[in-house]
Amino acid sequence: MKERQFWFIVGSQHLYGPEVLKTVACRAEQMAAYINEQREIPCTLVYKATVKTPDEISNIVREANYDNNCCGIVTWCHTFSPSKMWINGLKNLQKPWCHFATQYHRTIPNEEIDMDFMNLNQAAHGDREHGFIGARLRLPRKVVMGYWQDGSTLSELGLWMRSAVGAMESRSLKVMRFGDNMRQVAVTEGDKVEAQIKLGWQVNTWPVGELVEEIARVSEEETDALMAEYEKKYQMATDNLSAVRYQAKIELAICKMLDREGAKAFSNTFEDLTGMKQLPGLATQRIMEAGYGYGGEGDWKTAALTRIIKVMCEGMGGGSAFMEDYTYHLQEGNEYSLGAHMLEVCPTLSSDKPRIEVHPLGIGGKGDPARLVFEGKAGKATVSTLIDMGGRMRLIVQDVEAVKPIMDMPNLPVARVMWRALPSLTTGAKLWILAGGAHHTVFSYDATAEMLSDWAEMMGIEFVHIGADTNVELFKQQLMLSDMVWKLKG
Ligand code: MN
Repeated sequence: MKERQFWFIVGSQHLYGPEVLKTVACRAEQMAAYINEQREIPCTLVYKATVKTPDEISNIVREANYDNNCCGIVTWCHTFSPSKMWINGLKNLQKPWCHFATQYHRTIPNEEIDMDFMNLNQAAHGDREHGFIGARLRLPRKVVMGYWQDGSTLSELGLWMRSAVGAMESRSLKVMRFGDNMRQVAVTEGDKVEAQIKLGWQVNTWPVGELVEEIARVSEEETDALMAEYEKKYQMATDNLSAVRYQAKIELAICKMLDREGAKAFSNTFEDLTGMKQLPGLATQRIMEAGYGYGGEGDWKTAALTRIIKVMCEGMGGGSAFMEDYTYHLQEGNEYSLGAHMLEVCPTLSSDKPRIEVHPLGIGGKGDPARLVFEGKAGKATVSTLIDMGGRMRLIVQDVEAVKPIMDMPNLPVARVMWRALPSLTTGAKLWILAGGAHHTVFSYDATAEMLSDWAEMMGIEFVHIGADTNVELFKQQLMLSDMVWKLKG
């Protein structure tokens, strides 16, 4: 994350003379150095220039567009920077933009303040001129407003950086599909051409037969080494080691194929496993734990979104994973959702050391698959889904509160997470269903609705949020108006 750069570009003009401009540049460098030291900032803010002319702005935007390390630009106007100077540059901007509205001094210095001070410190009106042109050009942008040494301000900037890293990841993401979508399922379908145009995703298919051949080529030595890692990292709660070994081979084979193609996400389906002895369970869980995205039953949209959210949230410590709403606990006043999947829940959500178990699986008609079984952690989280509305994608994000599962469920042989949707389970589920949200989601203890909203804005897709204050009537109106707006936007 620290290797990812954001360019700090300070707006000014020649009106103030070289001394003022020198002070501005010096302070901007000092601010970037301070900001980079703070724990709220995951990436590196690089002070690039104090820009004074339209050509300087156009040139630096062009450079930012073509620099692979540059994930976005952060602009600030220490002095007044006439915004017609910015039009040609900003019109060409292809990277996320944050307008950092701040000022160098925290408070008004009672006795020191004179007209020289006023000349130098003009952020309060400089940032308004700068804001107008963003609004006038109708450009997607984040406005972070606050003092540059305050934790809350830097936290907002830091989380925006994470969203921009997600946008960068999205634009180069490759998804490997084994098999098509589960037969007849609608919500996991989607327009892959539209997804690539809007989100950059290259979603393509590889034959399961090729994976079967790759599994057969995995050596016993490689398998032994991976089994030793399993023994160390997890609790081996089965005697059926040959079933576990087969999952180790699947893991090695899928990783080889993904890495060969540079793919960072994959999907498969239990309906297309010809030649495989088990449905990938433990193997898929392990690959997700390593940071790849995954979606079950051919769900390439959730696979890609899982990868992007994992990248955005790197190092935040909570965990993000492919998830499915399974069943409800509808005891009045004590309602919960139970989330799981038939095997594939990412162990980054685990509250303790996962157990490797082998159990029969009633679906898919294959051998008993090995899987990791664990309970999810308690804490605030979000669930996200991406659906294809026909002509556009809609990202729906819901705030949830995860709890330690309120019962043991000793006969449930899969990993499980329990949560309550906001504003309440029943209203939350109603809103989710009204918006068309899928049963598959990305569950994240790290990604916030604001981060995902910023990401959606960067990608140019519709965003719908369900949280503590969402009202059913207003929500329905919002969906109706949003549908009209997005039909116009195209
Ligand atoms: Mn599923």
